[in-house]
Amino acid sequence: MTTVPYRFYLPEDKIPKQWYNLRADMKELPDPMLNPGTMQPVTEEELAHIFCAELAKQELDNTTRYVDIPEGILEMYKIFRPSPLIRAYNLEKVLGTPAKSYYKFEGNNTSGSHKLNSAIAQAYYAKQQGITSLTTETGAGQWGTALSEACAYYGIDLSVFMVKTSYNQKPHRKTVMETFGSKVIASPSNTTEAGRKILAEDPDNGGSLGCAISEAVEVAVSTPNCRYVLGSVLNQVLLHQSVIGLEAKTAMEMLGEYPDLVIGCAGGGSNLGGLIAPFMQDKLLGKKDTKFIAVEPASCPSLTRGKYAYDFCDTGKITPLAKMYTLGSGFKPSANHAGGLRYHGMSPVLSKLYHDGYMDAVAVEQTKVFEAATLFAKHETILPAPESSHAIRVAIDEALKCKETGEAKTILFGLTGTGYFDMTAYDSFNNGKMNDYIPTDEDLERALANLPKIG
Ligand SMILES: *Cc1c(COP(=O)(O)O)cnc(C)c1O
Repeated sequence: MTTVPYRFYLPEDKIPKQWYNLRADMKELPDPMLNPGTMQPVTEEELAHIFCAELAKQELDNTTRYVDIPEGILEMYKIFRPSPLIRAYNLEKVLGTPAKSYYKFEGNNTSGSHKLNSAIAQAYYAKQQGITSLTTETGAGQWGTALSEACAYYGIDLSVFMVKTSYNQKPHRKTVMETFGSKVIASPSNTTEAGRKILAEDPDNGGSLGCAISEAVEVAVSTPNCRYVLGSVLNQVLLHQSVIGLEAKTAMEMLGEYPDLVIGCAGGGSNLGGLIAPFMQDKLLGKKDTKFIAVEPASCPSLTRGKYAYDFCDTGKITPLAKMYTLGSGFKPSANHAGGLRYHGMSPVLSKLYHDGYMDAVAVEQTKVFEAATLFAKHETILPAPESSHAIRVAIDEALKCKETGEAKTILFGLTGTGYFDMTAYDSFNNGKMNDYIPTDEDLERALANLPKIG
């Protein structure tokens, strides 16, 4: 008899009504975002030219511990939340590990990922402010899809700058976004100054998140009643994603569990920041000594091989400067299949926690990731997104370590999404065509040499 069910959903009365702001409990805060013009910390007023007012406020709010989730957002969350906490019994069995593995599955919505948690919040605040159009970037397409859904619901026009390599590789993503009424533009494009500049230097440029951000911000600041929204990296996005961790923590408490180890994939850091938030709070307050592991692709290793420095959030160098682990805003990751993990930087909050020793990071190669994805799919019946599979890889490795040591650790990992738009990746893995390009030290030095010189 098993006491813990395979799938556990929080009952209605336990669903979080507030987000948790991890910054309020950090011993030391991340360094402030700087205005590149003045080199002074950005003000709420300056940010409000780019972001919606409420989001600009959330971005700079380091003190409010719990933020009420507006009723309108709670209503929308009800459509796809709570997400299930799943005990990976089948995976445990096939691995023969004494470890208990749990995953929080965020792929049960049309966008197929956790990104909808923040998309709904950002579109809601835009609507409240009377904003009529939004711009954004998307890499693999999950963020663009999630935001398209949210904007369709709230009746806001959306332009999505989609990284050109993804645009060509995943045409169906574009179709989904267009179905929800969004305009999708391959980036770099000739519709913006930033795009035209990049194309003039390199007509075959396949784009990057950094480049798409430049284009989206440029359109937002030059269009009346338009704002820019971003699906990761920012403090506000981590705040919204804390719903993942809050649900997971309450669910585990109800099951009489607490994780020894929390593992998540890290692109810009939003799902990981959200998943770990309430557990990290316990660690910061000295209540628990949980271990946290950020997993990144070996092809885009910002935490494990990047520099902790001020850098631009975009390639066109028009955004504020953030202190973070970065590979340099001009870094072009090789074509790997985890499109959502190809950003040059990392959330300033997670960067700071990692820098101060509260979190570990590992980089994994993509064939190893797909081996884990395939094993997981066969036993857990969910086809995981390549991004999420980075977390699966390390969760499996940790469970196997427990097999050797005989420790029955409790592992929690984030399963951020499904891989149904990643058939090219699975196909290339299945046919033995996948490679593991890892940037050389020289590749990294070249991009890091162009970091902005600060103080
Ligand atoms: C975007 C995405 C990620 C990575 O983004 P984070 O901000 O680091 O969470 C991970 N998994 C999926 C499925 C995604 O869509």
